[in-house]
Amino acid sequence: MKILILPGDGIGSEIVGQAVRVLEKFKSEGVPITLSHGHLGGAAYDAHGHPYPEATQQLARDADAILLGCVGGPNYDTLPRALRPEQGLLGIRKDLKLFANLRPAMLFPELVASSSLKPEIVSGLDIMIIRELTGDIYFGQPRGRRTNAAGEDEGFDTMHYARSEIERIARVGFEAAMKRGKKLCSVDKANVLDTSILWREVVTEMGKHYPEVQLSHMYVDNAAMQLIRAPKQFDVIVTGNIFGDILSDEASMLAGSIGMLPSASLDANNKGMYEPIHGSAPDIAGMDKANPLATILSLSMMMRYTFGRDDLAARIDAAVRSVLASGKRTGDIADINCQLVGTKAMGDAVVSAI
Ligand code: NAD
Repeated sequence: MKILILPGDGIGSEIVGQAVRVLEKFKSEGVPITLSHGHLGGAAYDAHGHPYPEATQQLARDADAILLGCVGGPNYDTLPRALRPEQGLLGIRKDLKLFANLRPAMLFPELVASSSLKPEIVSGLDIMIIRELTGDIYFGQPRGRRTNAAGEDEGFDTMHYARSEIERIARVGFEAAMKRGKKLCSVDKANVLDTSILWREVVTEMGKHYPEVQLSHMYVDNAAMQLIRAPKQFDVIVTGNIFGDILSDEASMLAGSIGMLPSASLDANNKGMYEPIHGSAPDIAGMDKANPLATILSLSMMMRYTFGRDDLAARIDAAVRSVLASGKRTGDIADINCQLVGTKAMGDAVVSAI
């Protein structure tokens, strides 16, 4: 397992540091892990003058999987766009052709009170949202600004999906459904958009190869509503880039804190970059306050999706659950009865539970 560690910015080195301890624990048991270390985002700009420098590109291409903390911070907000930390993130995703973004929205029973919805609506929640990451209106051409015939300014973007792009993300959706509850909901806007009509046709055709999976289709506006009304009706959701961007953020709030949610971005061969969904939290950086669990749970996804080591993933998940059950909480998920701990003490607890 060649794993590249990219702490990034802000709280990145604190939370990734705790996840690395989990990897070192496995390594000490004989799991064949080799770690390399690099820079991405603002840290890479500081060290190399670019958010995704050549040195990191080389390390990223050589690795089987990447663990990323988070990028960004106020120090870098005034840089020209091409040098901003987010460009490092977009750059590495594009370079490695990471087209499938997997974001679970799951609620640990111990954290039911952290959700903004009623316990009976969210307890037991376990959804996987699969978002296409390299196409759609974010990348379609033409795009730009112009002055129209009436002399008025216009902005325009192009929604675009080719059959092959839909097929490969649909396949990820069906495969994930096969590993879970065998239900796949494809989200589109086929009542209005031609791109979505093609999307629905292709996903329906793909469904014939997965007779065990119960396939349904839902318009995105309805999906946004259903996620709040009755989120447990979903198992796996597959959707395009812009719809997935919005729905996955909405779903993350069902689970309470963003400090708990991992994500994976995969290529066609299950090489992947794994990262918590939250940002670099500059307000708490360096204060031993950040919750490392989303990063540690990202490792669990790595073990499952890139390395096929469901046994190690299950041990990480069980350790996190037992630590939560013991009452330990970082500030973002604290409640009145909990034992408040910092980043490092949370890492200690997880490593010892493993
Ligand atoms: P943020 O996710 O960094 O923080 C939002 C709030 O959540 C803050 O109050 C923060 O303290 C808290 N928070 C986040 N992660 C936490 C954790 N692990 N434990 C405890 N509390 C946590 O979002 P933001 O403030 O909008 O953005 C800050 C910076 O992060 C910006 O530069 C932004 O561009 C960047 N960002 C990066 C990513 C990424 O790397 N994928 C994602 C989102 C934002």
